[in-house]
Amino acid sequence: MKRDVDLFVRNCQQLLTLKNSSRGPRRGAALSDLGLVENGALAADGGRVVAAGTFDEVASVCKPVDGCVDVDAGGALVMPGFVDCHTHTVFAAYRLDEYEKRVAGVPYAEIAKSGGGIAKSVSDIRAMDVDTLLGVSKSRLDGCIAHGSTTVEIKSGYGLDLNNELKQLRVIRALAESSPATIVPTFLGAHSIPPEYRERREAYIDLVVREMIPAVTSEGLAEFIDVFSEVEVFTTEEAERILREGAAAGLRPRVHADELYDTASAEMAVRVGAVSADHLTKISAAGMSMMADSDVIGVLLPGTSFGLPSLHFAPARDMIERGMAIAIASDFNPGSSPSESMSMMISIACSHMRMTAAEAVSAATYNAAFALCRQNDVGSLEPGKRADFLVMNCEDYREIPYRFGTNRVHRVFIGGVEWTGNQRELNFQ
Ligand SMILES: [Zn+2]
Repeated sequence: MKRDVDLFVRNCQQLLTLKNSSRGPRRGAALSDLGLVENGALAADGGRVVAAGTFDEVASVCKPVDGCVDVDAGGALVMPGFVDCHTHTVFAAYRLDEYEKRVAGVPYAEIAKSGGGIAKSVSDIRAMDVDTLLGVSKSRLDGCIAHGSTTVEIKSGYGLDLNNELKQLRVIRALAESSPATIVPTFLGAHSIPPEYRERREAYIDLVVREMIPAVTSEGLAEFIDVFSEVEVFTTEEAERILREGAAAGLRPRVHADELYDTASAEMAVRVGAVSADHLTKISAAGMSMMADSDVIGVLLPGTSFGLPSLHFAPARDMIERGMAIAIASDFNPGSSPSESMSMMISIACSHMRMTAAEAVSAATYNAAFALCRQNDVGSLEPGKRADFLVMNCEDYREIPYRFGTNRVHRVFIGGVEWTGNQRELNFQ
């Protein structure tokens, strides 16, 4: 019997289904399998995919209902919406002065010492009222969607005191309630030691553990807990303690790990059963082996390495060869990666991390869904999953990295409904 459908997409020169026969994230050679169908079609009902395949395959199992929305992709590439699994999208202001300094060669430590860096974003967010913060954040989220991200993880971490962390998380919740995109909230109270606690870091960690975590969980404001485990930020031991306390309270751990130095944070992420370990530019061979043998997703953030000229890129080829499950995200933030473009991240991953276009697309969709525990819902166009997809302004997926710096996203569908957010509005805040 044919299934009723209320959305039918035809004429896709390439349809990337990302369909996978095995469970679990893609590793090794499987990362190159995009489930590509030529002359593809896609049908959905009630916002969920019913069938994806060749036109004949889909037409043979689907019956359009009255009023079915018919989308002619015009011979374009159609693919799942990007899953941006690591962002700091809720911030008060960009940090242009700092960018100038960095380009001129001023070291980050010096920028931080003069009140720049994360501390600047903290003072900016503390000074902004919740409505204004929600307004600027909404327009930034619209920017993410206009660039094809239909699932966006967003972290707190610029409040660094109880009220401002809660303020940021409530803004994230308000975005989740008002946007059709899937928003995934992460509590990152341990992003940095705030200036007022610089001489008494233990007291700040106690505040995170004893006051912030209970307040966040009692309001149900976050699903994940994250820590910046790094030299001169939180030690690996401190990070482990905070993550374990968070996990005990019901928040799933993820970690900013081994970004500037190898602090064995990837190993710690495996130990605490984290969902993801992110950055990993300085991960050791031992860390890679441990991650390869685990379910922890390595989230690579090419934009951060690109935005900080002094940084190295994560050893993606080595990771893939060792069998690590990797994803790609934007790290969208006002410091190191002020870009919401997942296409640009894919470009950098290809040009600078030597990933193939297919590997990078898998990492930015299918595997990224695992990094957010949303693999049953998003990341591929398979029956039962959300009909989150993009009609791209190109006909071959390899154009995504190749045409770097240009937005090839033409139309965005979220839950089977075309997104009509105003992409031409001024959104420079
Ligand atoms: Zn980050």
